[in-house]
Amino acid sequence: QGKICQFKLILLGQSGVGKSSSVLRYINGQFHENYEATLGYRFVTHSVCLDDTTVKFVIWDTSGQSRYFSCVAEKTRGAHAAIVVYDITAGNTFFRVREWVNMLKSRTSPNIVIALAGNKSDLANKRMVEFDKAQAYAEENGLLFMETSAKTAMNVNEIFLAIAKKLLEN
Ligand code: GDP
Ligand code: MG
Repeated sequence: QGKICQFKLILLGQSGVGKSSSVLRYINGQFHENYEATLGYRFVTHSVCLDDTTVKFVIWDTSGQSRYFSCVAEKTRGAHAAIVVYDITAGNTFFRVREWVNMLKSRTSPNIVIALAGNKSDLANKRMVEFDKAQAYAEENGLLFMETSAKTAMNVNEIFLAIAKKLLEN
C-alpha cells in the first residue's frame, strides 16, 4: 500500500510569461494562444505517482502584476515548492526572477524546492535570455532549471516531476 504526500506549489513570475498556460498544459494537456490573464490567485490539484508514492500537488497560480505583489507574497506561506517562470524572449522577465527568488528565500522554509522555468522555448528565434546565463544563476542559487514550452509541452511534465522527486528526497 503506497502513501500519499501532499505539497503546496506556487507559480511566480511576471504577467504574460506563461504561468497559467503551464498549469493548464500540466493538468489538462491543453494550450490556448490567448489564454485569459489570471486575476489574483486560485489553485488546482494534480497528482503524480513516483514508485509507491502518490505526490499530490496543490498548485497556486498567481498574477505577477505589481499591485498584487503583497498578496502574492502572502500566498507563498506554507509553500513546499515554487516554480519561478520567465519568458526566454523577454529579458526583463528574467531580470525580475531574483526578486521572486529572494522573496521566497526570506519568507518560506529553507527546505523549499524552487525551480526556474525559462518558458516559451518554442520561440527560440526570438530568444533574449541565454540558456547558460539562466543555468548559471540557477546553480548559484540551488534552483532546479529547465527551459519549457506550454505551447509544445516541452519539459512541462518533466519540471513538475523533478520537483516531486526533490521534495521526496527532503
Ligand atoms: P501568465 O500571465 O504568466 O499566466 O501568462 P499566460 O499563461 O496568460 O500566457 C500569456 C500569453 O503567452 C498567452 O497568449 C499564451 O498563449 C502565451 N504563451 C504561454 N506559454 C507559451 C509558450 O510556451 N509558447 C508560446 N509561444 N506562447 C506561450
Ligand atoms: Mg496567469
